[in-house]
Amino acid sequence: AKQQGRNNFQWYTSDLNERVCEHARLRNDLQKAIDTESLKLHYQPQIETRTGRVSGIEALLRWEHPQRGFISPAVFVPVAEDSGQIIPLSLWVLDTACAQLRQLGEQGITGISMAVNISPIHFQRGHFVQFVQTILEKHGLCGEQLELEITESLLLHNAEQAIDTLHRLKALGVRIALDDFGTGFSSLSYLKRLPIDKIKIDRSFIQELGTDCHDAAIIQGIIAMAHHLSLTVVAEGVETESQAAFLKGSRCDVLQGYYFAKPMKYEALEVFLRGVKG
Ligand code: C2E
Ligand code: CA
Ligand code: CA
Ligand code: CA
Repeated sequence: AKQQGRNNFQWYTSDLNERVCEHARLRNDLQKAIDTESLKLHYQPQIETRTGRVSGIEALLRWEHPQRGFISPAVFVPVAEDSGQIIPLSLWVLDTACAQLRQLGEQGITGISMAVNISPIHFQRGHFVQFVQTILEKHGLCGEQLELEITESLLLHNAEQAIDTLHRLKALGVRIALDDFGTGFSSLSYLKRLPIDKIKIDRSFIQELGTDCHDAAIIQGIIAMAHHLSLTVVAEGVETESQAAFLKGSRCDVLQGYYFAKPMKYEALEVFLRGVKG
């Protein structure tokens, strides 16, 4: 038994070593990607149910690794958060997303807001609000054109400071959306305390709509509650016509997902937006 225990232990450590190495490799490769500016942003349209028009777009990071192909931001964003690389990365994302929103405006495509995912690590840094203000001025945008997507994990460490930062962002006109709603711990109590404009119902609720009858009830409950609090509701991960129809019938305000459009590069987005504008 002793012998076996040791073998298990060795197996475990080599597995751990492997993961540590993988982490270090990713971090090095990510630094190269940042230095050579080979990361890209893709944009996914958000459709307002009442009018059918595109009211916003969400910027999503894309990394095509030279040997390994596309690596999901769900994999490399946590690595960048551990290493601190998330700060330069996040600055680049905000700057690039705002530059491309201005470019859309110059092409005559207006009335669309840009949603950017913000890591709590970046959000909690000093000067975050000042940086956002500088970027808006640099690109000649008003605060209302920018939406920041945050998650409630932001409140885990210093909730008071986070709430203060949110108020200062709102003073700039910037909109705040609470992402992945319904997956956290105490979402409901946060809703009361947070100065937010929108909630995004997590994809997991939408995906099980057809198979789990409770999800329909939960979604309708979330929508009713959010509307009572004067919040806009976005559903993410809408993949089918029946999901879209259910959400529209339940008065969900904005829909986003593969059913309408996948995230796409800037050039394709421009074509897509011209198409839907007729
Ligand atoms: P998220 O913010 O919840 O983004 C939604 C994810 O769902 C995106 O995955 C999007 O491509 C995907 N998606 C959209 N519609 C559908 C659909 O109909 N079906 C399915 N199955 N998926 C759909 P993605 O792009 O891989 O991003 C994963 C996560 O990585 C994001 O989750 C976000 O947390 C993070 N992330 C992405 N870009 C950034 C960024 O610029 N900064 C930060 N801090 N995090 C980012
Ligand atoms: Ca998001
Ligand atoms: Ca989400
Ligand atoms: Ca997420």
